[in-house]
Amino acid sequence: MALFGAKPAMKTGDMVYAWTTDSEIAKRAECGGAVTTLLKYALEQKMVDAVLAVKRGQDIYDAVPTLITDPKDLKDTAGSLHCGTLLLSKILAKHLKGVKDRKIAMTVKGCDVMGILELAKRKGVNRDNLYLIGVNCGGTVSPVKAMKMIQDVYQVDPMKVIKEEIDKGQFIIEFEGGHKGISIDELEEKGFGRRTNCRRCEYKVPRQADLACGNWGVIGEKAGKATFVEVCSDRGADLLSRAAKAGALATEAANPKGIELRQKVEGAMLKLGEKWRRKDFGALKADLWGTISRETGRCIKCYSCIENCPVCFGAAETLKGKSFMVQPGELPPNPMFHLRRFAHISDSCINCGQCEELCPMDIPLALFSHAIRVEGDAAFEPKLGKASYTN
Ligand code: FAD
Ligand code: SF4
Ligand code: SF4
Ligand code: SF4
Repeated sequence: MALFGAKPAMKTGDMVYAWTTDSEIAKRAECGGAVTTLLKYALEQKMVDAVLAVKRGQDIYDAVPTLITDPKDLKDTAGSLHCGTLLLSKILAKHLKGVKDRKIAMTVKGCDVMGILELAKRKGVNRDNLYLIGVNCGGTVSPVKAMKMIQDVYQVDPMKVIKEEIDKGQFIIEFEGGHKGISIDELEEKGFGRRTNCRRCEYKVPRQADLACGNWGVIGEKAGKATFVEVCSDRGADLLSRAAKAGALATEAANPKGIELRQKVEGAMLKLGEKWRRKDFGALKADLWGTISRETGRCIKCYSCIENCPVCFGAAETLKGKSFMVQPGELPPNPMFHLRRFAHISDSCINCGQCEELCPMDIPLALFSHAIRVEGDAAFEPKLGKASYTN
C-alpha cells in the first residue's frame, strides 16, 4: 500500500504534466525540462553509461549530436532545435557499436525510434540497452532552407536570429530587436517550411519509445512551464516514477481537457500528413517510373543515400556492388541501381528523409521510397488498412 502522501508508481498509459526542479535546466528547457531531467537522472543513478542528446553548435541551424557521460553537461542539451534534421538511430549503429556493450538513454523523435526498430530487426542495435525518451514532432526544417526562408520571407538576417520555436502552427523567430511568427501553412505554400518527408510523417507522438513528451495538451497555469508526458512502457514508467520520487521532477495528473486537446491536435496533424501524402504521391501517378528515371539521371553515385539509410544497414556493401547494376566508371548509374535499392527497402522505408536530405544532387529519394512503400502496403497488405494514393 502507498504511504500517506506518496505518489503511486506510474504505469503504461498514464499521462502527466512534469517539470524539473533543477533551476539551470528550467532556464534552458523548451517546456518543463522533463526530458533533460530524466536523462540526467538516469545517468546520475547509473541506470545508463551515457546519454545521447542534441545540443546547439555555432548557431540555431547547427544541431550537434552529443554523447554525454558527465551529468553536469546535460543542461547544455536542453531546448528543441527545429532545424536539426538528424537521424539519431544511425549514430548508434555507426559510432556506438550498436549499443551492444553499454546502456544509453537518448532523446528520440518518431523517425529516430522507427530507425532504431528497423536497425534492431537487422541486429544492428540492441534495443534492450536503450532508454528512449520520445519527443512529439511536428516536423523539422532543413537548415539551409531555413536561412533562405528567414532572409526572403521574414526579411531578417538569418545570422541575427537567436531563437526559433514552433507554436500554435507558427514558425516563430526571435532576433536582435524583435520577434516574428508566420504560419507554417503560409510558409509551405511559398515552398518553405518543413521538409517534405516531415509533411507526410505518420509518427507525431512517438509511442514506440518508453515515454512520449511534448507541449501539446499542457493548458492552464502550467502552459509553457510543464512537459506533457505519456508513459509508453514499463521501463518508461519505472524511470519517471523513480525521478519523481527522488524529487528531480514534480508531476501532477494531466488536465482531462488538455488530454482531449492533445488528441485533437495529433488527429489534425495526422490528417494533414494524409493530405500531403495524397498530394505528393498523386503527382507521381501519371509517370512514376519515368519520373524516377529522369530525376536519378543526376546521380553521381556517392552512395550517401545507402550509407545513411537505417534500412540499408548491413546490406550497404551488396547494394554498392556489381549485382546492383553498379558498373565502375559509369555515370549516371543505370536506373536499375535505384530501383533495386527501392525494392530492397520497399517493405521498411520509415520516411525519415535522410537519403533525400543528404543527397548532394537533390534527388527526391524519400518521396520515391515512401510512395513505393505505401503503395506496396496498399496492394499486398490491405489488412493494414492503408489507402492507395495513386489509384
Ligand atoms: P528539454 O528538457 O528542453 O529537452 C529537449 C530534448 O530534445 C533534449 O534532449 C535535446 O537534446 C533534444 N533535441 C533538441 N532538438 C532535437 C532534434 N532536432 N532532434 C532530436 N532531439 C532534439 N512537441 C509537441 O507537443 N508538438 C510538436 O509539434 C513538437 N515538435 C517538435 C519538433 C522537434 C524537431 C523537436 C526536437 C521537438 C518537438 N516537440 C514537439 C517537443 C517539444 O519541443 C519538447 O522537446 C518537449 O515538450 C519536451 O520538453 P522539455 O522541456 O521536457 O525538453
Ligand atoms: Fe519529425 Fe516525422 Fe520529420 Fe522525423 S520524419 S523529423 S518524426 S516529422
Ligand atoms: Fe529513410 Fe530514405 Fe531509408 Fe526511407 S529510404 S528509411 S526515407 S533513408
Ligand atoms: Fe546518387 Fe544521390 Fe544516392 Fe549519391 S545520394 S548515390 S547522388 S542518389
